[in-house]
Amino acid sequence: MARYTGAVCRQCRREGQKLFLKGERCYSDKCAIARRAYAPGQHGQGRKKVSEYGLQMREKQKARRYYGILEGQFAGYYEMAVKSPEVTGTALLKICESRLDNIAYRAGFASSRKEARQLVLHRHFTVNGKRVNIPSYRVKAGDVVAVFDGSKNSTKIKEVAEQNASRPSPVWMDVDRENLKATITRLPNREDIDFEVEEQLIVEYYSK
Ligand code: SF4
Repeated sequence: MARYTGAVCRQCRREGQKLFLKGERCYSDKCAIARRAYAPGQHGQGRKKVSEYGLQMREKQKARRYYGILEGQFAGYYEMAVKSPEVTGTALLKICESRLDNIAYRAGFASSRKEARQLVLHRHFTVNGKRVNIPSYRVKAGDVVAVFDGSKNSTKIKEVAEQNASRPSPVWMDVDRENLKATITRLPNREDIDFEVEEQLIVEYYSK
Protein backbone atom coordinates (compact mmCIF):
# COMPACT_ATOMS: atom_id res chain seq x y z
CA MET A 1 0.00 0.00 0.00
CA ALA A 2 1.31 3.46 -0.88
CA ARG A 3 2.16 6.12 1.67
CA TYR A 4 -0.84 8.28 2.66
CA THR A 5 -0.67 11.72 1.06
CA GLY A 6 -4.00 13.21 2.15
CA ALA A 7 -4.71 15.70 4.95
CA VAL A 8 -2.73 14.53 7.97
CA CYS A 9 -5.19 15.58 10.68
CA ARG A 10 -7.91 13.47 9.08
CA GLN A 11 -5.99 10.43 10.26
CA CYS A 12 -6.26 11.52 13.90
CA ARG A 13 -9.93 12.40 13.48
CA ARG A 14 -10.57 9.00 11.92
CA GLU A 15 -8.91 7.25 14.87
CA GLY A 16 -10.56 9.57 17.40
CA GLN A 17 -7.35 10.50 19.17
CA LYS A 18 -4.22 12.58 18.79
CA LEU A 19 -1.53 10.74 16.85
CA PHE A 20 0.92 13.65 17.01
CA LEU A 21 1.66 13.72 13.30
CA LYS A 22 2.20 17.46 12.85
CA GLY A 23 4.75 18.57 15.38
CA GLU A 24 4.15 21.86 17.21
CA ARG A 25 0.56 22.21 16.04
CA CYS A 26 -0.40 19.00 17.86
CA TYR A 27 0.37 20.65 21.20
CA SER A 28 -1.57 23.83 20.39
CA ASP A 29 -5.27 24.66 20.39
CA LYS A 30 -5.15 24.56 16.59
CA CYS A 31 -5.17 20.76 16.78
CA ALA A 32 -8.05 19.43 14.68
CA ILE A 33 -8.95 16.86 17.33
CA ALA A 34 -9.55 19.67 19.82
CA ARG A 35 -11.69 21.57 17.32
CA ARG A 36 -13.56 18.79 15.51
CA ALA A 37 -13.46 15.64 17.57
CA TYR A 38 -15.44 13.50 15.18
CA ALA A 39 -14.57 11.36 12.19
CA PRO A 40 -14.02 13.18 8.88
CA GLY A 41 -16.47 13.02 5.98
CA GLN A 42 -20.18 13.48 5.45
CA HIS A 43 -21.20 10.81 7.95
CA GLY A 44 -18.48 11.51 10.46
CA GLN A 45 -20.90 12.72 13.12
CA GLY A 46 -23.39 9.90 12.68
CA ARG A 47 -23.50 6.94 15.04
CA LYS A 48 -22.10 3.81 13.53
CA LYS A 49 -22.11 0.25 14.82
CA VAL A 50 -18.59 -1.13 14.48
CA SER A 51 -18.01 -4.85 14.06
CA GLU A 52 -15.37 -6.76 16.00
CA TYR A 53 -13.27 -6.93 12.85
CA GLY A 54 -13.75 -3.19 12.35
CA LEU A 55 -12.42 -2.49 15.85
CA GLN A 56 -9.38 -4.68 15.29
CA MET A 57 -8.68 -3.11 11.92
CA ARG A 58 -8.99 0.45 13.31
CA GLU A 59 -6.57 -0.36 16.11
CA LYS A 60 -4.06 -1.70 13.61
CA GLN A 61 -4.47 1.37 11.41
CA LYS A 62 -4.07 3.66 14.39
CA ALA A 63 -0.76 2.08 15.39
CA ARG A 64 0.52 2.14 11.81
CA ARG A 65 -0.35 5.80 11.45
CA TYR A 66 1.06 6.75 14.83
CA TYR A 67 4.44 5.26 13.96
CA GLY A 68 4.24 6.13 10.23
CA ILE A 69 4.75 2.55 9.06
CA LEU A 70 3.50 1.09 5.80
CA GLU A 71 1.18 -1.90 5.76
CA GLY A 72 3.69 -4.51 4.56
CA GLN A 73 6.38 -3.49 7.00
CA PHE A 74 3.92 -3.43 9.88
CA ALA A 75 2.74 -6.94 9.01
CA GLY A 76 6.43 -7.96 8.97
CA TYR A 77 6.86 -6.50 12.46
CA TYR A 78 3.89 -8.55 13.62
CA GLU A 79 5.59 -11.73 12.31
CA MET A 80 8.73 -10.78 14.22
CA ALA A 81 6.68 -10.11 17.36
CA VAL A 82 5.02 -13.53 17.15
CA LYS A 83 8.46 -15.15 17.25
CA SER A 84 9.52 -13.10 20.25
CA PRO A 85 9.38 -14.72 23.73
CA GLU A 86 7.47 -11.66 24.96
CA VAL A 87 3.72 -11.04 24.84
CA THR A 88 3.09 -10.48 21.12
CA GLY A 89 1.34 -7.10 21.45
CA THR A 90 4.07 -5.70 23.69
CA ALA A 91 6.80 -7.06 21.43
CA LEU A 92 5.12 -5.38 18.45
CA LEU A 93 5.06 -1.99 20.17
CA LYS A 94 8.66 -2.40 21.29
CA ILE A 95 9.76 -3.08 17.73
CA CYS A 96 7.99 0.09 16.58
CA GLU A 97 9.53 2.10 19.41
CA SER A 98 13.03 0.89 18.57
CA ARG A 99 12.97 2.37 15.05
CA LEU A 100 15.53 5.12 14.55
CA ASP A 101 12.92 7.66 13.38
CA ASN A 102 10.89 7.06 16.55
CA ILE A 103 13.97 7.34 18.77
CA ALA A 104 14.94 10.65 17.15
CA TYR A 105 11.42 11.95 17.74
CA ARG A 106 11.15 10.65 21.31
CA ALA A 107 14.54 12.19 22.15
CA GLY A 108 13.25 15.58 20.99
CA PHE A 109 15.53 15.84 17.95
CA ALA A 110 12.50 16.16 15.65
CA SER A 111 9.01 17.59 16.07
CA SER A 112 7.19 14.60 14.62
CA ARG A 113 8.03 11.10 13.43
CA LYS A 114 7.58 12.30 9.88
CA GLU A 115 10.14 15.03 10.37
CA ALA A 116 12.46 12.54 12.10
CA ARG A 117 12.13 10.26 9.10
CA GLN A 118 13.17 13.10 6.77
CA LEU A 119 16.13 14.04 8.95
CA VAL A 120 17.30 10.43 9.09
CA LEU A 121 16.98 10.09 5.32
CA HIS A 122 19.10 13.23 4.94
CA ARG A 123 21.85 11.61 7.03
CA HIS A 124 21.64 13.92 10.02
CA PHE A 125 21.93 11.08 12.56
CA THR A 126 24.53 8.64 13.75
CA VAL A 127 24.17 5.43 15.72
CA ASN A 128 27.25 4.59 17.77
CA GLY A 129 29.20 7.14 15.74
CA LYS A 130 28.22 5.81 12.29
CA ARG A 131 25.88 7.72 10.01
CA VAL A 132 22.63 5.86 9.43
CA ASN A 133 20.04 6.94 6.87
CA ILE A 134 17.48 4.18 7.35
CA PRO A 135 14.41 5.37 9.33
CA SER A 136 13.42 1.79 10.16
CA TYR A 137 16.89 0.95 11.55
CA ARG A 138 16.36 -0.91 14.85
CA VAL A 139 18.17 0.60 17.78
CA LYS A 140 19.22 -1.64 20.69
CA ALA A 141 19.77 -1.06 24.40
CA GLY A 142 23.16 0.55 24.89
CA ASP A 143 23.18 2.28 21.49
CA VAL A 144 23.92 5.98 21.27
CA VAL A 145 21.88 7.98 18.79
CA ALA A 146 23.24 11.44 18.04
CA VAL A 147 22.92 14.28 15.60
CA PHE A 148 25.85 14.06 13.19
CA ASP A 149 28.58 16.53 14.19
CA GLY A 150 28.48 18.21 10.79
CA SER A 151 24.73 18.82 11.16
CA LYS A 152 24.77 20.33 14.62
CA ASN A 153 25.13 23.84 13.24
CA SER A 154 22.38 23.46 10.67
CA THR A 155 19.61 26.02 11.18
CA LYS A 156 16.96 23.33 10.84
CA ILE A 157 18.48 21.08 13.50
CA LYS A 158 19.01 24.00 15.89
CA GLU A 159 15.46 25.18 15.39
CA VAL A 160 13.99 21.72 15.98
CA ALA A 161 16.15 21.06 19.06
CA GLU A 162 15.10 24.41 20.53
CA GLN A 163 11.42 23.80 19.82
CA ASN A 164 11.48 20.42 21.55
CA ALA A 165 13.80 21.23 24.44
CA SER A 166 10.95 21.27 26.96
CA ARG A 167 9.38 18.00 25.80
CA PRO A 168 9.99 15.36 28.48
CA SER A 169 12.22 12.50 27.37
CA PRO A 170 11.24 8.87 27.94
CA VAL A 171 12.61 7.10 31.02
CA TRP A 172 14.31 4.48 28.88
CA MET A 173 16.79 6.86 27.31
CA ASP A 174 19.28 9.33 28.63
CA VAL A 175 19.10 12.51 26.56
CA ASP A 176 21.97 14.97 26.45
CA ARG A 177 20.30 18.02 24.92
CA GLU A 178 23.44 20.10 24.84
CA ASN A 179 25.32 17.57 22.72
CA LEU A 180 22.19 16.33 20.89
CA LYS A 181 22.83 12.78 21.91
CA ALA A 182 20.58 10.06 23.38
CA THR A 183 21.79 6.86 25.03
CA ILE A 184 19.25 4.08 24.98
CA THR A 185 19.52 2.65 28.48
CA ARG A 186 16.97 -0.09 27.76
CA LEU A 187 14.07 -0.73 25.43
CA PRO A 188 10.71 0.40 26.85
CA ASN A 189 8.31 -1.76 28.82
CA ARG A 190 4.64 -1.50 27.91
CA GLU A 191 3.95 0.94 30.74
CA ASP A 192 6.66 3.26 29.41
CA ILE A 193 4.88 3.66 26.07
CA ASP A 194 2.39 6.52 26.31
CA PHE A 195 0.36 5.46 23.30
CA GLU A 196 -3.29 4.64 23.91
CA VAL A 197 -3.74 1.53 21.86
CA GLU A 198 -5.22 -1.88 22.53
CA GLU A 199 -2.45 -3.93 21.01
CA GLN A 200 -4.33 -7.15 21.77
CA LEU A 201 -6.86 -6.14 19.08
CA ILE A 202 -4.01 -5.81 16.57
CA VAL A 203 -2.83 -9.29 17.47
CA GLU A 204 -6.38 -10.58 16.95
CA TYR A 205 -6.55 -8.79 13.59
CA TYR A 206 -3.44 -10.54 12.30
CA SER A 207 -4.07 -13.93 13.86
CA LYS A 208 -7.29 -14.59 11.96
FE1 SF4 B 1 -3.40 15.01 14.93
FE2 SF4 B 1 -1.53 16.83 15.31
FE3 SF4 B 1 -3.46 17.25 13.51
FE4 SF4 B 1 -3.97 17.32 16.14
S1 SF4 B 1 -2.68 18.73 14.97
S2 SF4 B 1 -5.18 16.32 14.59
S3 SF4 B 1 -2.62 15.68 16.91
S4 SF4 B 1 -1.87 15.68 13.44
